[in-house]
Amino acid sequence: MAKLKILEFPDPRLRKKASPVDAVDDALNGLIDDMFETMYAAPGIGLAATQVDVHKRLLVADVSSDQSDPRVFINPVIVEKDGVTVTEEGCLSVPGYYEEVERAEHIRVRFLDRGGDEVEAELEGLLAVCVQHEIDHLDGKLFVDYLSEAKRQRIRKRLVKDRRQAAVA
Ligand code: ZN
Repeated sequence: MAKLKILEFPDPRLRKKASPVDAVDDALNGLIDDMFETMYAAPGIGLAATQVDVHKRLLVADVSSDQSDPRVFINPVIVEKDGVTVTEEGCLSVPGYYEEVERAEHIRVRFLDRGGDEVEAELEGLLAVCVQHEIDHLDGKLFVDYLSEAKRQRIRKRLVKDRRQAAVA
């Protein structure tokens, strides 16, 4: 297993639209293991392949407090959504910023599991929010896109400045 580098906003690679996974094979399962290691180390509750510069429709999540509920979603598609919930979201690609975002409260999602079998699951609560956030990543979308232009620019400037300072330090 290996920890992967997480791309950070405003890296243009975060804007790429991911293509469907065509084979659930050993290479993909190796990537999944690396994504879990990267997510747990960050620490975070979700990670999309896009964030580690792999532009395939794959995401991992674990919203438990003790790493006991690892979930893998390959080629996820939301087939039903219902209700509205507002959650303060953060993102490993936008470190240090937390903002309220409105999402569906319940979703039904269809995806392939690690064995390559098609399954459907009804999700709610934090996991439903997390999966919607990560599917956005696969479409090149970030949670800051839901904020005002002024707020997004402010975050972008601050992150670029922080990174420049980190580079000279
Ligand atoms: Zn994110």
